Amino acid sequence: MAMNTPHTLRASDLLFPTPVSIEDRDGSYRLHSTTTIAASPPFEETADTAAALLGCKRGGEDILFKHIEGLDDEEYRLSISTVQVVITASTTRGAFHGLSAVRKLALINDNILPACRVCDKPAFVWRGFMLDCVRHFFSVDFIKKLIDAASLFGLNRFHWHLTDDQGWRIPIDGWPKIEEIASRRSELQYNDGRTYGRLYTKEEICEVQAYAHKRQMIVIPEVETPGHVSALLAAYPEFGCTGGPYEVQDRWGIFNEVLCAGNDAMLAFFEDAIAQVATLFSDPYIHIGGDECPQSAWEACPKCQARMKAEGLTGEHQLQSWLTSQICAMVHKNGKRPIGWDEVLDGTEEMGLPDDLIVQSWQGIQGGLEASRRGHQVIMSPNTVGCYLDYRHRDSAEEMGNLGVSTLRQVASFTATPPQMDEQAKSMVLGAQGNLWSERVLSARQAEYLLFPRLQLLAQQLWNPREADENLNRIELLTKYCEKLDIHCYRGAVE
Ligand SMILES: [Zn+2]
Repeated sequence: MAMNTPHTLRASDLLFPTPVSIEDRDGSYRLHSTTTIAASPPFEETADTAAALLGCKRGGEDILFKHIEGLDDEEYRLSISTVQVVITASTTRGAFHGLSAVRKLALINDNILPACRVCDKPAFVWRGFMLDCVRHFFSVDFIKKLIDAASLFGLNRFHWHLTDDQGWRIPIDGWPKIEEIASRRSELQYNDGRTYGRLYTKEEICEVQAYAHKRQMIVIPEVETPGHVSALLAAYPEFGCTGGPYEVQDRWGIFNEVLCAGNDAMLAFFEDAIAQVATLFSDPYIHIGGDECPQSAWEACPKCQARMKAEGLTGEHQLQSWLTSQICAMVHKNGKRPIGWDEVLDGTEEMGLPDDLIVQSWQGIQGGLEASRRGHQVIMSPNTVGCYLDYRHRDSAEEMGNLGVSTLRQVASFTATPPQMDEQAKSMVLGAQGNLWSERVLSARQAEYLLFPRLQLLAQQLWNPREADENLNRIELLTKYCEKLDIHCYRGAVE
């Protein structure tokens, strides 16, 4: 046999995110189509998934999923010898992460699994990514491809941005103009009257969830309130302060037309819509938006002013927090937990917010600091330190991307618990997300280029945070993973 064949590589050189503990051993196990997989309860389904993903079959114990008590929720042990692969865990989540480690070794090393022993578990519970499917309508096939790749690197939350100024993508029974009007926009750069966008069907939404759940990934739908609602207002202009007319926007920005907080018919719509979303999506969270809501329309609206008076509110900021509380109550009524962008904190110093509202800190880290100080759990996705993956990879006019820069080094050194946080604040941080807004994304291939390898680096920092240089030294490995996954990634300079 020739020297330097692929199987002389060590598992510790190949696994990413770097496991918490890994010991390389001599020899390797060769995976092939007759390799068999067995599982002890409750891992039969994981074993089925493993057989499908690894191209093996159920039956004997070449690969064995073993259940033991006492490991943490997502923890796993992996032992690869020359004769057997054993994955040990206490939960199906842990067993799935063990499977992902095997799958990565098989993928990157031509089905030859270098012998090793791994003990591994994630540092943070919330390891997510957000995809804006409003500005660009991504196909279900592409969403599944992304979920698969993200789960392979240990991410476990898919935040699905589904309503905004430029469209509404969730079917809502009994409100026909959602599909007729809110789901599509006129493409103003063409003069032939063409429109862009559609709803996802309920079947597609269920298909995405089933696919994600097989990969131990939770799906969080986002329904924007009270701003970023032009599409909804175009369909139901009575929900706005002026009564319209409004249009589904084909421009990017922040629009002054927002939900009329004085309008009970608008509240009735959301009562119904949130209930339907809560039924359609089976996981425990609903994101209610809350970002970038101008209040000028409320200042000029007699109905909003009457609401403020009736509720004893002293300013429009308080009207936003009143409305946030109303929407949160609808989410609670349906047994779900609300998440909001960090503007939900504005104007709530006196009024407060529901205790269980999770705050997503996007405008830098300040929102996270403030929310954690006030007792809210926090998801960090600061646009200032690398979490906005629609930003360019480097500060160059030749690079694709929108608005800002998120360098590989920023992501590689990202910490979800920055040093400005004291121990109490850090204890409120669930984890973090990378967000891909899609105003300037025209295709799935462009999305891949923006997401990778930054999403892999973020996954490392949420699984097992390392020094930036250690992560950046492995960019070539990440690129190779992308090749194997048919993902077009950024290959330019590291800055
Ligand atoms: Zn109003």
